[in-house]
Parts: sequence; structure tokens; C-alpha cells
Amino acid sequence: MAKATRSNQRKVSTPKRDTGAPSKDLIRDLVTANHILFQQGVLDGFGHVSVRHDKDPTKFLLARNMAPALVTAADILIFDLDGRPVSSKAPSVYLERFIHSEAYKARGDVQAVVHSHSKAVIPFGVVPEVSLQPIFHMGAFLGEGCPIFEIRDAGGPGCDLLIRSAELGASLARDLGSHSAILMRGHGATIVADALKRAVFRSVYMQMNAELQTTALGLGRVNYLTTEEARAATATVEGQIQRAWDMWEIMSRNLGFRK
Ligand code: MN
Repeated sequence: MAKATRSNQRKVSTPKRDTGAPSKDLIRDLVTANHILFQQGVLDGFGHVSVRHDKDPTKFLLARNMAPALVTAADILIFDLDGRPVSSKAPSVYLERFIHSEAYKARGDVQAVVHSHSKAVIPFGVVPEVSLQPIFHMGAFLGEGCPIFEIRDAGGPGCDLLIRSAELGASLARDLGSHSAILMRGHGATIVADALKRAVFRSVYMQMNAELQTTALGLGRVNYLTTEEARAATATVEGQIQRAWDMWEIMSRNLGFRK
């Protein structure tokens, strides 16, 4: 009897109050994503990764303006879908945050966004005769096609290539359409997904696919995955995302960056 009373009291005295703050797990995964993408060579001192707020779909989480490898939980800021930090005391923010805000605004299915300057990928945005295509099963998601964003069409001549306004972000999101990735001519790429770990996974294997495709193109005519093969392989391969994530997390932790 006394035991039951204690148990009841405990239930009443420690109600779980939802503050509307993003979950600690989400912040931890976003920090890990920053470190993994650096460790895997997708990001260097530049580029960024964001995730949609788990309690408020009109917000997203993105680090303050800093190198991804150095991001800690304390550096994660909350932004609205116009790319404005929610806190009025926010520190310096990424110039290209509109890549993220406009992707979340345009696509309700998008839960995470990666923007990279992956050097293996950039050639495929600048050579009109060659398109990025799935060369192996791990890059199969590219079978859906990968559009190229030409910023001259949206930003005019003489622009600095950066997505520095909501208008340019909206143009990029429009050209992305329903695709998972878009190449940005002379700049890099943006990858979106329905989950943070999938966005990281695809960013890593998009880069590996680009490296392999460049090698193969130097050897001769390339026999790419067919659309049907790409669809089947995507389903199989992406059932294994956690396996890669667990390893990458330890590899990135071994670099010694603070969380
Ligand atoms: Mn950039």
C-alpha cells in the first residue's frame, strides 16, 4: 500500500513538461553529423548540415557560423523558415542558411539538408556533356537524376555563386524539385532527405560515386545502373544506414573534437 502511494506520488511530482525545445538526441545527432561529414571529407572548413526541429516543423537547427568539425551542442541555433535565428542574441550565422530554410519551406517531406563543396562532385556540375549517374549500388539513389543549378539564371552575371538570399534559396529549391540532390554549378551540391542519417549517408556515397565515375570515365564507356536496378539497390542499401553511421560516429569521435 505504502509502495503504491510512493509510486503515485512520484508520478505526480515529476510530470514531463514539454518545453518545445528540440530533443537532446536530435542536437547530439546533428553535432555527430557535422563531425562525420568532416571526417568523411564531404565538408571541410565550409559547408553545413541542418535538421528540422522535432517539435516545431516551422523551425530548423543549424550551427552558428563555424567549421563543421568544431561544432558542439552549444553551437546549435534554431532558425525559422525565413532563415532568421529565433534568438535575438544569436551569434554570427552562415551566409548560405537560405539553402536550408527554403528547402524546408518548399518540401514538407524534407527533414535534413546537407550543403557541401565536395571536390569529387563539383566537376559534374560544370561539364555539360557528363551527368552524375549511379555507377555502383551504394550511389543508387542518383538513379532518380540530379539536376544542376545555374546561379547565373537566378543571380545574374557577376554574382559570387553563394546562396546569400531567400530569393536565391527559393530558386535552388525550385530547381531541386522533388529530387534528393542538386549540383550547384561552380560551387558544390545540396542533398536533402527525410531523415538526418539518410542525408549524411547519401552525401558520403554521392561523393564516392562521383570519384568512381570520374575514374571509370577515364577508362572508357561506362555501364551505369539501370533505373530499375537503381530503385532496387536504393531500397536494399538504405536499410543499412545505421551500420555505417555507428562506424562513422566512432571514427569521427576518434578525431577528438568536442561534442
Ligand atoms: Mn557553399
